[in-house]
Amino acid sequence: MDFEEFRKRGKEMVDYIIDYLKFIEQRAVYPAVQPGYLRSLIPDSAPQEPDSFEDLMWDIERVIMPGAASPACSELEIVMLDWLGKMLNLPEEFLAVTGHGGGGVIQGTASESTLVALLAARKKMITQMQEKYPDLEEVTIISKLVAYTSEQSHSSVERAGLIASVKMRKLPTDEKFVLRGEALKQALEEDKALGFIPFFLCATLGTTPSCAFDNIVELGPLCTSENMWMHIDAAYAGSAFICPEFRPLLNGVEFADSFNFNPHKWLLVNFDCSAMWVKKRSELIGAFKMDPLYLKHDHQDSVLITDYRHWQIPLGRRFRSLKMWFVFRLYGVKGLQEHIRKQVNLAHEFESLVRQDEQFEIVNDVILGLVCFRLKGSNDLNENLIKRINEMRKIHIVPCQLQDKFVLRFAVCAPTTESKHIQYAWQQIKEIATQLQQGHQ
Ligand code: PLP
Repeated sequence: MDFEEFRKRGKEMVDYIIDYLKFIEQRAVYPAVQPGYLRSLIPDSAPQEPDSFEDLMWDIERVIMPGAASPACSELEIVMLDWLGKMLNLPEEFLAVTGHGGGGVIQGTASESTLVALLAARKKMITQMQEKYPDLEEVTIISKLVAYTSEQSHSSVERAGLIASVKMRKLPTDEKFVLRGEALKQALEEDKALGFIPFFLCATLGTTPSCAFDNIVELGPLCTSENMWMHIDAAYAGSAFICPEFRPLLNGVEFADSFNFNPHKWLLVNFDCSAMWVKKRSELIGAFKMDPLYLKHDHQDSVLITDYRHWQIPLGRRFRSLKMWFVFRLYGVKGLQEHIRKQVNLAHEFESLVRQDEQFEIVNDVILGLVCFRLKGSNDLNENLIKRINEMRKIHIVPCQLQDKFVLRFAVCAPTTESKHIQYAWQQIKEIATQLQQGHQ
């Protein structure tokens, strides 16, 4: 959708909302639909080609309004998470439609998803331990629990451990910043010998500093054999898995208990929208279920009914699946794939400019839209470089530390970015680098 169409459709939408409010008395107060009504009204997967805006608006009346308020909100979310799960080719245990007990939910952020997964895993392990040793107190079990993640994972993972009051051990990565099975194996042996109870691993696909991919094919079987919950945080990179050429990066997801990524980061869905899937919904519900009288209703959680309040921390929820429905239909899967590929190509364009200049080095494997680079030389030199770049306020770059190196991260992710912006950014960087090397102020 270009700017002018956005302007036009936005105005039409305001008219629709005003008419809805003006004539609200003509609508039923309480919906007459039956559980599961919505799935049969829409296709079972996202369209490959874009749909028209008119068709979408027509479907608001046909599909959403009969189940206005909560039934439609939950039911569209179930189906949208199935659509997206199918786009990623997730194992069928994660999809609600297959009836294996799994399904997806929209959380606000990746941080929330990690925390929710960790709390569910904690509850599961406490329950298992108390079944085995009925006299063991919860507080004693929690003090012995240990969770793992890599030293490259996002700070939100460590924070989840802090909030859940469990030990979060950060494991070393290999020379490509990847967490490998061997590092986990060694930590497990050490911790078990000390009497700790390993219960959770958060692996990252697309780490924040360098977009590295933890080796979940090695880590997954270890988690399975150690009865540990494996959560995968693919906050940024997950969007790319809708392209068949990037899907192999997700191989090993079949070992995971939960998987999450943020369509609001790179799939053109507005903030906030963090998609999370679990294989066993009962394990989430087991951790969070509360049923006060004022929230009781006639239907039990089942394949048809999803009571999302048991899947998350807040009670109330927004109708965020509408955003997914609009984006998936207005772009089509092919349009979304095109968007990802364009950005990856632009990142490679930047990478090749850097590689052609002897003064610079590339520090990561450029797989998606992130290029980690630096001037060959000291960390001080690179700190000066980024300081001057950001002071110019023409482009903005966020740094990171990779092992002992201070590194600049060039991230391509805005849908409006074109080749001319890449060329412009590189000119800026080069000019400042040249001045710096020549000792100019
Ligand atoms: N995980 C990774 C790998 C990230 O890159 C980020 C943010 O950049 C996060 C988690 C945190 O995401 P959120 O803001 O959705 O909590």
